[in-house]
Amino acid sequence: MVKTTTESVQCQRCGRKLRTPKAMELGYGRVCHSKYKAEKAKEEMDRNQMRLELDGVN
Ligand SMILES: [Zn+2]
Repeated sequence: MVKTTTESVQCQRCGRKLRTPKAMELGYGRVCHSKYKAEKAKEEMDRNQMRLELDGVN
């Protein structure tokens, strides 16, 4: 029997159950979200850097 509950939201990073409304809203636990944000920021930085390098070529 498969029970589908929308109430148990899992962290999209580590798969743990999220307990706070804030975490559920984010889809990540507090720690995972800060890591996620850091990764996004780094990704963005890398992308900007790549764009700068490409601009330099042109
Ligand atoms: Zn997590």
